[in-house]
Formats: sequence, C-alpha cells, structure tokens
Amino acid sequence: MTEIPSEHPRHDSLVTRHRIEEGVERGITSRQGLIAQGRGEAFDYLLGERTLESADEAARAAAAHLLLARHSVLSVNGNVAALCPEELVDLAEATGADLEINLFNRTDERVEAIADHLRDHGAREVKGVRADARIPGLSHERAKVDADGIYDADAVLVPLEDGDRAEALGAMGKTEIVIDLNPLSRSAQVAAVPIVDNVVRAVPNVARHARELRTHSREELAVIVDAFDPEAALDAAERAIRAGVSDD
Ligand code: ATP
Ligand code: MG
Repeated sequence: MTEIPSEHPRHDSLVTRHRIEEGVERGITSRQGLIAQGRGEAFDYLLGERTLESADEAARAAAAHLLLARHSVLSVNGNVAALCPEELVDLAEATGADLEINLFNRTDERVEAIADHLRDHGAREVKGVRADARIPGLSHERAKVDADGIYDADAVLVPLEDGDRAEALGAMGKTEIVIDLNPLSRSAQVAAVPIVDNVVRAVPNVARHARELRTHSREELAVIVDAFDPEAALDAAERAIRAGVSDD
C-alpha cells in the first residue's frame, strides 16, 4: 500500500480508500462496493468525518442490544471486511456475537476470500458459507443466510445493508442495528438502532461501549435500550449534515 503521510489533511479518508481498492484487487469487495464507498465518503465529508454525539449514543444502545440478545450476529459484506476486519473480530469477541458473511452480490469465491481474510485477522468461526436458509420476501441469491446464523438471530448488526434486505430482516422480527453514513437511506430509516457514522469509527466504538457495559445488569441494559430514540438520532444526523454545525 502507498504510504500516506500522517500529517496529510485527508489521511484517514485516503487510507480508507486504499483499503477498499485493495479489497477489490483481492476479490473481497465488489466493484459496486467502490460506488457505495464514494457515496459514504460524501456523507462523511459533510459530517466533518467525526462521530456525532447522537451516533455515539446509538453505538451505546447498539452495544446494549447485542449484550441483551439471545443470539446476536454481525453481518459482514465486502466493504466492511476490507475496511475493518480486525475491529469486526474484536466486536464479535466483546459481545459474544457470531460473524456471518452476507453479500448482495454473492459468489462462492468472494465468500471464501472474505472468510479467509477474517480468519487472517483472528476470526475463529465464520458463518455464511453454508447459506442453508432463506430470508422470506427476497429473491433467491440475496435471501441466503445460515440457518444457525442470521436466520436464527434475534439481533443483527448490518453495516451498509441495502434497504430491501434491511426491511426484510426487520419483518422477521429481528432487532436491527444499521451502520450507515446516510441518515436518509432506507436501511437507516428501518433500523431499531441507526448509527450514522463511518464503519471504521462505529465498529470499534460499539466494542468500546460493550466492554464498558459488560458488567451492567440486564435491567440497566434494558433502560439504555428503551431510552434510545431512532427518529431523534436520524434527525440529529440530518441536521448536522444540512447545517454543517455540531448536532445536539
Ligand atoms: P437504500 O436507500 O435502499 O438503503 P442505498 O442507495 O443507500 O440503498 P447503496 O448505494 O448500496 O444503497 O448504499 C451504500 C450505503 O452505504 C450509503 O448509504 C453510504 O452512505 C453507506 N456507506 C458507504 N461507505 C460507508 C462507510 N464506510 N461507513 C458507513 N456507511 C457507509
Ligand atoms: Mg442504504
């Protein structure tokens, strides 16, 4: 990877871009993933490439949900696998969640490449290879999930999920946590917990909250979950983007 001087004003953004490029070269990220990245960068620019207070609260609520769940799963696509594999593995460890590869453009080669990549970054078990169950209401390839993974889960974290699938997962009664830089995206709008933040910041932030909340009682976690207002979080993010000033 090309060296980017750390004092470069666009350092983090350039590193992120290189990771996605490398992901495409290694068969982890699809070419459409490049377009999604471009859209995300535009929103991140408008947010000032920082975690809003409202996004931090969402990350905390997400951590509480993951800890309370009977079975939580972190859905992994080609973009997040390229951007923050180590952080995903760490979040799975911090919350006891499973990692499951779940691709919009599914090919066996890409699933294998991502599974290898996650294992290289410390993952022990990676689900999503079997794909022996279907999400109702979606066309064949896009519906595939693991019977003992996302299909069974009661809480799912879906970073950068497409709107249709986010809706279908919600319809199955799962608690859905979405990480998406666009507060107007349908995926963010249907989520129980929308985290409007870059995955490279949000994933480690949820892990940090989870470690802090691990000693809390189920009652205390339930209070955090109940106090979270998804509409207010989306409004705060949209206001910050439109006004170009700090949120709440
Ligand atoms: P819908 O509106 O139905 O949800 P969409 O048009 O948003 O669909 P895509 O274009 O695939 O679907 O969306 C990709 C989404 O991922 C965009 O909303 C973009 O902001 C977001 N995104 C891209 N990169 C990142 C990132 N690094 N972190 C967080 N979100 C990201
Ligand atoms: Mg979307």
